Amino acid sequence: MISKEYINDILKGYDLNKLKICTLGSHTALQITKGARDEGFENLLLCTKKAAGFYRELPAVDDVLEIDSYGDILLDEIQDELIDRNVILIPHGSFVEYVGSKNIIESLRVPMLGNRLVLEWESDRKMERRWFEEANLKVPREFKSPDEIDCLVIVKFPGALGGKGYFLVKNSAEFHRKLKVIDLPENIKKDYTIQEYVIGTRFYPHFFYSPLDDKLELLGMDIRYESNVDGLVRIPNVIQREIEIDPSYVITGNVPVVLRESLLPDLMNVGRNLVKTSKGLFKPGIIGPFCVEMICTPELEFICFEISGRIVAGTNLFIRGSTYSDVLYDEPMSCGRRICREIGVAIERYKLDEIIY
Ligand code: ADP
Repeated sequence: MISKEYINDILKGYDLNKLKICTLGSHTALQITKGARDEGFENLLLCTKKAAGFYRELPAVDDVLEIDSYGDILLDEIQDELIDRNVILIPHGSFVEYVGSKNIIESLRVPMLGNRLVLEWESDRKMERRWFEEANLKVPREFKSPDEIDCLVIVKFPGALGGKGYFLVKNSAEFHRKLKVIDLPENIKKDYTIQEYVIGTRFYPHFFYSPLDDKLELLGMDIRYESNVDGLVRIPNVIQREIEIDPSYVITGNVPVVLRESLLPDLMNVGRNLVKTSKGLFKPGIIGPFCVEMICTPELEFICFEISGRIVAGTNLFIRGSTYSDVLYDEPMSCGRRICREIGVAIERYKLDEIIY
C-alpha cells in the first residue's frame, strides 16, 4: 500500500505555484478541467488516442498527455512524469473502473484528492452495506439464497457494470430460469446479490464534505436515466404484457431533480451520518465528493442501496451550478470546481496534506 508518509514526501517536493489538476479524459473530465481553470489552476488530462483529439479542442483544457490505455497510468515512467509535473489526481468513476481500486491503493504513487480507502468501500457491495448499516440508514432487504425470495427482487452482479444484466424476479423458479439465460461470464453470474426491489422514487444527491471546515454541502441531485426500464414505462401496461420484455437497468444518461423541500433536513442527516461513520471505518474518513443512490418510499423514508465515494457522472448536469449549489455560492459551482476550491483553500491554510492521499 502507498503510505501517507510517502505521499506527504512527494507533496513536500511539489512547487505549489505550478500545481496541476489532472484526471483521465472521460466521465467528468469536462467539469474538472473547467473547475480547475475557474479556480486558477492549470490542468492536464491523460487521454487515449481516441479521446485526445476531442479534449484538446476544448478551451478549458490546458494540456493533454496521450497514453495507450487508461491502465498505463500505473506505468512507472508515466507516474514519474506526473510527479515531475506537480500533479494532483482527481479520481472519477471511469478512473476507478479502468485503474481499479486495489491498484490505486497499492501502486499509484501520484498524490490524489481524498482518502483512497473509500474506493475499496464503495466498490464492494458488502462493505458499502456495512457502512450504511453502521450509519443507521435503511437498506433494502437482501436474500442469501434464491429459495428465500418472498417479494419482488432485483438480482445484481458485481463490478461497475452500469446495471448490465440485472433482472427482476418474484420467486426462486423465475430466478433460476432467468439466471440461466443471462448473457454474462459464468464467474460473474455466480456472484449475484438478491435485493428487495424497492418501489418509490429514486434520488441521487451529490454531497461534498470539507474536512477543512468540517462542513457537508449538497451540491446537486439527479436521477439516472436507464435503458430500457425508463422506456418501458411509456408503453401502456396491456401492451407490455403482450410483448413480454424484461426490464434492464443500463445507465444511459442523467436527469436533474429537486427533492420535496421538507425532506432536505432528513437528506442532510443521511449524508452527515455517512461522514461520521466513515471516520471510524476508514480513517480519516471520506473527503470531498460522494453520492448516495436512494429510493424515497411513500412513507417518505430513504432506502439507500449504493454509494460512490468520488465525483459522479450525474454532476455533469450542473457545470454551471444547481438549485442547491446556487443557495450556497454566488457563482456557478460545479462539483469539479468545488474540488479545486478545496485544494486552493487547503494550500492557503497550509493543510494540503489533510485532503491529499
Ligand atoms: P450499479 O452498481 O451497476 O450502478 P445499482 O446498484 O446502482 O448498480 O443499480 C442500478 C439501477 O437499478 C439503479 O439505478 C436503480 O434504478 C435500480 N435498482 C438497484 N437496486 C434497486 C433496489 N433495491 N430497488 C429498486 N431499484 C433498484
